[in-house]
Amino acid sequence: MVAPFTCPHCGAHDYNVVLTGCDVAGATVEEEFLWDPTAADYTSSGALIVDSASVEAEKAQAFCAQCETDISEALARYEEQQSGGSA
Ligand SMILES: [Zn+2]
Repeated sequence: MVAPFTCPHCGAHDYNVVLTGCDVAGATVEEEFLWDPTAADYTSSGALIVDSASVEAEKAQAFCAQCETDISEALARYEEQQSGGSA
C-alpha cells in the first residue's frame, strides 16, 4: 500500500517533475501540434518524453499540479519515507 504525496501548500496529490540537462537513452518523444486559427499557425506543446530506457538528469524539480508550488524538498522527503518503510 502506498500513501499518496500531499502538497504541503494546498493538499493536492498530483505533481509534475521537470528534469533539466537530461541525458536520455532509448527515448520515445511525443510532440503535440494544435492549430491556432487566430494566429493561423500551429502551436506546439514542446517535446514530451513518453518513455525511455534510462534518464539521467543534472537537476530535478517537482511542482504541485494544483498550486504550482515548488515541492522538490517535500517530495524528496516523501520518497525517502516510501522507500524506508515506516521510518
Ligand atoms: Zn499544491
